[in-house]
Amino acid sequence: MNGDRVMRPTSWKIKDLLKVSADYLKEKNIESPQLTAEVLLAHQLKLDRIDLYLNFDQPLSENEISGYRSLIKRRLRHEPLQYITGVQEFWSLDFMVGPQVLVPRPETELLVELAIKRINTLSKPAKHSPTILDLGTGCGTIAVSLAKKIQQAQIRATDISAGALKMARLNAEKHGVLEQIEFSQGDLWDPLNQGITFDVIVSNPPYIASEEYDDLPPEVRDYEPRQALDGLEGGMAYIERIINGGPPFMNPGGCLFIEMDPAQTEKALNLIDKIDAYDRTDRIKDYSHRYRVVMVQKAGGGT
Ligand code: GLN
Repeated sequence: MNGDRVMRPTSWKIKDLLKVSADYLKEKNIESPQLTAEVLLAHQLKLDRIDLYLNFDQPLSENEISGYRSLIKRRLRHEPLQYITGVQEFWSLDFMVGPQVLVPRPETELLVELAIKRINTLSKPAKHSPTILDLGTGCGTIAVSLAKKIQQAQIRATDISAGALKMARLNAEKHGVLEQIEFSQGDLWDPLNQGITFDVIVSNPPYIASEEYDDLPPEVRDYEPRQALDGLEGGMAYIERIINGGPPFMNPGGCLFIEMDPAQTEKALNLIDKIDAYDRTDRIKDYSHRYRVVMVQKAGGGT
């Protein structure tokens, strides 16, 4: 390739390229075509989105145009936008993501909010150094967000996937909370020694029903790690193991918050009913007013 030629400005300006590519994405039924075109062009040019507007008439080089074209092609093959750019915002923080982890979903912010609220109600001394477990941390969104918000919290984060834990550690480092979180690899409760207990446990486990997997959008089905999403029969396998396995790892009065599909919350409450160690339970709606989280509290410990 001729270096001079690819760097030389073409007659394409930012505004023209955005218009043409947004129209094309729209024609191909890609969700949010204008936004996608902007995010990808900003990524290609290493600019913030707002800078595109400030440089609307800037001519682009052949190199920039061909780089952008390959990003657009990836999106047209239904690769999630976040895997192309390598980032997703969560709890107003930027997280690094890649195909080894699930793309963080906005509804999961509810778990962070609930954990913070619960910790604020703890009495001393627990409130001064609360212990939190994030079961199946993925790229670390919940653990890192909580560590940023509650500096005195001692946080444990687990995941079965070594690749996910690597990403979670990078995110903890990026946000300056690596020291505050202990990461360990293993299936659900397995990495935790007997006798260790927490004030708050949060989990966004795999909860999509295997039976429904083929019907998922290609972005999810063909690109996201199945291990992070497939909750086996009815999507309930991990939810059930979390509910059944929780009590030995909870302090008296400790709370467990599990994210799930709204249709699974009733089943989860029935499973909880069978366990004597628990007393209070609740269902909490997400920002789209659908039951999204089931809370259960271990008996003892006052409030
Ligand atoms: N909410 C996710 C989805 O519907 C599922 C998340 C999960 O299984 N933990 O894509």
